[in-house]
Amino acid sequence: MLDVVAQNEPLIDRLIERASEVIRSGRYILGPEVEAFEREVAEHLGVDHAIGVSSGTDALLVSLMGLGIGPGDEVVTTPFSFFATAGCIARVGATPVFVDIRPDTFNIDVAQVASAITGRTRAVLPVHLFGQACDMKALWEVACQHDLPIIEDAAQAIGTTSPAGPVGKLGVYGCFSFFPSKNLGGFGDAGLVTASDEALAEKARVLRAHGSKPKYHHGVVGGNFRLDALQAALLRVKLPALDGWTAQRRKNAARYDEAFANAGLPPDLLQSPTRRFEGHIYNQYVIRSSRRDELQAHLREKGIATAIYYPVPLHRQACFQHLGYETGSLPEAERASTEVLALPIFAGLGEAQQGRIIETVVGFLGGSR
Ligand SMILES: *Cc1c(COP(=O)(O)O)cnc(C)c1O
Repeated sequence: MLDVVAQNEPLIDRLIERASEVIRSGRYILGPEVEAFEREVAEHLGVDHAIGVSSGTDALLVSLMGLGIGPGDEVVTTPFSFFATAGCIARVGATPVFVDIRPDTFNIDVAQVASAITGRTRAVLPVHLFGQACDMKALWEVACQHDLPIIEDAAQAIGTTSPAGPVGKLGVYGCFSFFPSKNLGGFGDAGLVTASDEALAEKARVLRAHGSKPKYHHGVVGGNFRLDALQAALLRVKLPALDGWTAQRRKNAARYDEAFANAGLPPDLLQSPTRRFEGHIYNQYVIRSSRRDELQAHLREKGIATAIYYPVPLHRQACFQHLGYETGSLPEAERASTEVLALPIFAGLGEAQQGRIIETVVGFLGGSR
């Protein structure tokens, strides 16, 4: 599904050199490596402020805490995402309010957001799923009408652009992840908060270190959400390669798109992902098929790894049953969870390898017509 070792291989000498420098420096937490990474990644993403944190999950947590969201508050979000999106809302004591997704992009259906807003809503938390931006222009209008801040979950969308601008710059906070399977993968857990507003950026910076400012004086309760110097130093080596990897992912996506379009299969058997906006970075290439489970089993038999993101939508998770969302309440998210299948798309995927995946997918589904 993803060969992280192969991707790091061309950079291995530099990575080891930088790791030993950090080990010899004796500065392992925050410090100059983290500050340098924050400057470089802010410039790369076109954002004003970047704050390195311990994971993408903690980026979400810090953002929610930075806005003072807590018990009694509601946050409108998508039911079709990695668990952390809604998990963090619950962890600060607030209630996730789920709005169904668009069937074409898997992203939150902005047209349904307004009707989910109540007097208790304190923020909207969209996810740029699989690397494609949400309709941020439309979401902005809704959020502005109700005077609500947007927190962007851009964990899968580093470098994604939308017609409204680069992701991470469109909300009051942007949340990124360097989990190894993300487009810019670290060597363990790491994440980033972005912000345009200096005061909100400073809040995140303070929350990241137990709310301490100055040291040992705590105006607010934060946590240990700090980024390691080692992660920052290694991510600095990988960052300049990111655009090249993204270009390769797009090329791989275009190859799948073309091959699947030419296969002439009915859309219920095989549907390529919709690219609604340019600027998709394809963290995942996710097809839909009514025969998803059989297709996945067949591919597994042929030695081809795939993944299901996500088999259970968030509103149907056991931990959220008390929220009262019945089966059928968010039909598009539920249908997607039974039909989606992510195919290998990583930058080092060989053309021959990909050709075999295409043949196997089309061969299996073609034979089942
Ligand atoms: C990966 C991911 C996260 C969490 O990031 P971690 O670094 O793994 O904590 C949050 N939201 C989404 C959509 C993700 O894909």
